Amino acid sequence: MNIIIIGGGAAGFFAAIRLAERYPKASVMILERGKEVLQKVRISGGGRCNVTHACWLPKELVKFYPRGTKALLGPFHKFACGDTMDWFEKRGVQLKVEDDGRVFPVSDNSESIALCLLDSARIAGVKILTQKRVDQITKLENGSFEIRAGETFHCDALVIAAGSSPAIWALLENLGHKIIEPVPSLFTFNIKDIRIAELAGLSVPNAVVEVIGQKNLKTEGPLLITHWGMSGPGILKLSSWGARWMHEVDYAFKIRINWLSRNPEHIKEELQEIKIDWAKKQVSTNPTFDIPSRLWQRFCEAANIGPTEIWANLNKNQMNAFLQQLCFSEWQVKGKSTFKEEFVSAGGVDLDEVNFTRFESKIVPGLYLAGEILDIDALTGGFNFQAAWTGGWIIGESV
Ligand SMILES: Cc1cc2nc3c(=O)[nH]c(=O)nc-3n(C[C@H](O)[C@H](O)[C@H](O)COP(=O)(O)OP(=O)(O)OC[C@H]3O[C@@H](n4cnc5c(N)ncnc54)[C@H](O)[C@@H]3O)c2cc1C
Repeated sequence: MNIIIIGGGAAGFFAAIRLAERYPKASVMILERGKEVLQKVRISGGGRCNVTHACWLPKELVKFYPRGTKALLGPFHKFACGDTMDWFEKRGVQLKVEDDGRVFPVSDNSESIALCLLDSARIAGVKILTQKRVDQITKLENGSFEIRAGETFHCDALVIAAGSSPAIWALLENLGHKIIEPVPSLFTFNIKDIRIAELAGLSVPNAVVEVIGQKNLKTEGPLLITHWGMSGPGILKLSSWGARWMHEVDYAFKIRINWLSRNPEHIKEELQEIKIDWAKKQVSTNPTFDIPSRLWQRFCEAANIGPTEIWANLNKNQMNAFLQQLCFSEWQVKGKSTFKEEFVSAGGVDLDEVNFTRFESKIVPGLYLAGEILDIDALTGGFNFQAAWTGGWIIGESV
C-alpha cells in the first residue's frame, strides 16, 4: 500500500508516524513544498511551542474552538490533550503545564518537539521528500490518486495536511469540495486613543471586552496595552470569536471595556466609600482596583478630574464620568496587527463534507484531511496544535 501525506507540519507528521507504525510494510511518504519540514512547529509559541493545553474534558475542550466545536467533540473522545502529552512524554520529551494551562516542553525550546517528531518518523520508516510542491491531484478511475509535485506520484490513500494553503484549497475545490473563505484569526486591535498613548506594556489582570452592537461578541481575560492598541488573552479571544464578522466590517468597530471585570453597581458603591475614606487624598495619584497608575491618571483626565483634585471635591458628574471610564469605556478599533506568538486562519474545507470518525472526505473516498486545511481554528493556548494532533492521529488509525 502507498500512502502519501501532503504537508510536513504537525498534522502531517502525526498521521504519517502512526500510519508507518501500523503498516511497517507500506510506503508512507510526506511531500513537503518547503526546504524543511515542521517550520511552524519551530517558530510556534515564540520559539517554545505551546504543544497543547491542560484541559481534560472533551466537552470543555471544544469550547475553545470557535470553528469546530461540534465536529471535534467525537474526535476528542478518541485523542485529546492528555493523549498528546502521553505521546510526547513516552518518546522522551518532558512537558510542563504553566499556570494558565498552556503546555510547553520543559526545555522551553520548540526544537525538542520538532526533533521528537523527526526521530519518530525516521524510526517508523516515514519517507520525507522536501521541495515537492504539489500542484495537481487527480483521482483515478481505480480509486487511487495521482499527485504531481515536479514529478508524478501515485498512492492508494491520500492525506492532505497542507495547513492554510490557497493553492491546495483550489485543488480541493476542483475535486468537488467547498472551501469556506479563509480570514485571519488571533490578532490584536489597532486603537489610536489619547487615553492609552505611550502606555505600551501596561496590563490589567482581568477585563471584560465586548463589541458594541454585537451581543455575542464578549470575552473576559487579561488585557495588554501595546504600541498599536490592545492585545492580551481578552482581546485575542474576541478576535477569534469575531474573526469573520470583523473581516466583513474591515476591522472597524467599537468595543466597550470593563477594566475591572466586576459589577459596575458594586464599583459605584466602592467609589462612594473611597470618596469618604480617602476624602483628603488626591484622586489621580492614588490608584486602586489593580489599575496601573499611569492608566488611572488617564482615566482621571478623561473624567475631567484635575491632577491635584482630592476625592472629597469630586462632583456627581466627575464621579459618574470616572465610573464610566472604569466600567463602560468605549474605544474605536481601526485595523488589526499580527499576534506574533500564534496566528491561524478561520476558514478552509467545509466541515459538513468531512466524516470526523475518520477525518475522511465525504466527497472523495480515500482522501483524508487534517489540521488547518479544515475550517477549524481555536483560541490561543495550544488548542490549534491539539486539533492538528487529533486529526493526524485519527487518520493514522483510520486509513
Ligand atoms: C507564528 C505562529 C505561532 C504559532 N504557535 C502556536 C502554538 O504555540 N500553539 C498552537 O497550538 N498553535 C500555534 N500556531 C498555530 C499552529 O502552528 C497551526 O495551527 C498548526 O501548525 C497547523 O498544523 P498543520 O499541520 O495543519 O499545518 P502547517 O503546520 O502549516 O503545515 C502544513 C505544511 O504543508 C506544507 N504545504 C503547503 N502547501 C503545500 C503544497 N502545495 N505541497 C506540499 N506541501 C505543502 C507547508 O509548507 C507546511 O509545512 C502558531 C502559528 C503561527 C503562525
